[in-house]
Amino acid sequence: MGTMNPHRPARGETTQSRTAQSRTARSRTAQGGAPGEDRRRQERAHVRQLKLSLLFTGIIFVAEIVGAAFTQSLALFVDVGHMLTDVSVLVASLVAAILMQRKPDSRHTWGWRRLEVVTAAGGAVVLFFVGLYSIVQAIMRLTGAVADTVNSPRLLLAFGIVGLLANLASIVTLVGSHDDNMNLRAAFLEVCNDALGSVVVIMSSVVLLCTGWDGFDAIAGGVIALMIVPRALKLLRDSMRVLLEEAPAGVDADCVVEHLSKVEGVVAIHDVHVSAVSSDLVRLTAHVVVDGSMTVAESADLIQRMTTCASEHFPVSIEHCTFQLEPADYGKECETHRTM
Ligand SMILES: [Zn+2]
Ligand SMILES: [Zn+2]
Ligand SMILES: [Zn+2]
Repeated sequence: MGTMNPHRPARGETTQSRTAQSRTARSRTAQGGAPGEDRRRQERAHVRQLKLSLLFTGIIFVAEIVGAAFTQSLALFVDVGHMLTDVSVLVASLVAAILMQRKPDSRHTWGWRRLEVVTAAGGAVVLFFVGLYSIVQAIMRLTGAVADTVNSPRLLLAFGIVGLLANLASIVTLVGSHDDNMNLRAAFLEVCNDALGSVVVIMSSVVLLCTGWDGFDAIAGGVIALMIVPRALKLLRDSMRVLLEEAPAGVDADCVVEHLSKVEGVVAIHDVHVSAVSSDLVRLTAHVVVDGSMTVAESADLIQRMTTCASEHFPVSIEHCTFQLEPADYGKECETHRTM
């Protein structure tokens, strides 16, 4: 049936590496290893890394509470509030990473893989408001609307240095996997924000000690917030993209239709949906019109070729496909769906 119509990936499509997930997908294929085992190893590493960075952050958190209570430093009390958001973002990321290790069951048929997107969205919102708050604070302090709170520069310097060391340790722990999924991205963004914050604390306490000028703290704090807010918004946008079931970056539904239509034996394609369950699992469903005389063996072969097309011909590998084969005169209900 049909003429010979071999189809190949569009030029350049599989050579460019637009996203981290396409890199992991391809390296998995290249190694020929079981992707499930790879993923489980990666998930165990994520839990370990998040536990470590939570430990570092937790130590500073406790130290700052003790320091703030001991010295009655308002600046430290303010930073304790900030640390509380750090700890909660990291705890949420850790809980998500632990739950994501669970296997699918009859209630959670995808496992908990979508959870990374939810924690990333939550972390991004928290970071966004922390950034916004810092900008407002900076403006208010610079305009004199709020009395400056830096009253113990030496202590501030000491905690700045300790905090920076702890945050650098967290960065080193997470840097290898911050592109693996959105959950890790949120945690990494959080510790980067903190490290920059520690740098500001150190610099402003040095400036305060040397010159007595206390405006530096507000300016630098505002600058960091201006750097973090766009990243938080991008993370929020990326996670909303998954939550709204949009086609992931690197997969264009029109392109998928064009490809699948060229697979030998396909008469037409409609009702195509492409979306991501999580940052490393893209799914595709499509209705495929075939010749009514097709045998079961032929249709099995067709499904195999379409699955190969979906998993190999796009910058992001589509790993979960569901194809509904139907004869050309199949019932009217399909007309109610969007035809692509
Ligand atoms: Zn193809
Ligand atoms: Zn399935
Ligand atoms: Zn249909």
